[in-house]
Amino acid sequence: MSSALLQLEGFCVSYGPVEAVHHVDLRVDAGEIVTVIGPNGAGKTTLLSAAMGLLPSRGRLLLGGEPMARISVEAMVARGVGLVPEKRELFGEMPVEDNLLLGGFSRWWRGERDQRKRMDEVFAIFPRLAERRAQLASTLSGGERQMLAIGRALMARPRLLMLDEPSLGLAPLIVREVLQVVSSLRQHGVSVLLVEQNARAALQVADRAYVLEMGAVALQGAASELLHDRRIIDTYLGLG
Ligand code: ATP
Repeated sequence: MSSALLQLEGFCVSYGPVEAVHHVDLRVDAGEIVTVIGPNGAGKTTLLSAAMGLLPSRGRLLLGGEPMARISVEAMVARGVGLVPEKRELFGEMPVEDNLLLGGFSRWWRGERDQRKRMDEVFAIFPRLAERRAQLASTLSGGERQMLAIGRALMARPRLLMLDEPSLGLAPLIVREVLQVVSSLRQHGVSVLLVEQNARAALQVADRAYVLEMGAVALQGAASELLHDRRIIDTYLGLG
């Protein structure tokens, strides 16, 4: 079997004495969109934060088959992993363009021309951001802010983008629009690990899914199969 882009093995995360993520095994292959769904408090954000090096963890994390000796944000970014946090964390009083340029900060040594070129590529993915390049981030709509948060992460040219609940607070139509863009990222060479509470929307765009319940993987499989799984329908998809 070829090496996964990202692989977690027996991955555990604790807050003090309380273990919030228990022995998770997960992989994302190149070109895949993989989603982690689950109820409130299941440990989705904790899992993603620890996989990015924002929280200490136990177990193994491998990138391209190589175990990471120390998982730090710097090491993960250097190895081509990006994170779009749940709170988006944009600079509201700065225009769209400057927010994007800050996302490419770790690559400044490549020079301003490289940054401008990358920004144009990001604008090609998000034409709406190009139209609003001079607008302050705080004045963007919710969907546009989410697109800017994703665009900013793309500035560092990640091979794997980890997204924490991009649908949060967005109207259903906008959720669909944002997730369509997320699923199109693979055409730009970016694989995705998508954490979502909106199980239906996530399963519609993902290739594979893991269901996290009380910190552990309760179920996993092809997203198209889970969409028709009786347990998933009853627990996560409601009537809709
Ligand atoms: P949501 O969808 O509501 O964001 P989630 O699946 O992302 O939920 P987490 O936020 O990862 O879940 O929380 C997992 C568990 O860890 C919860 O029981 C939560 O209370 C706990 N937890 C989260 N952050 C902390 C923290 N900083 N200190 C202690 N416990 C925490």
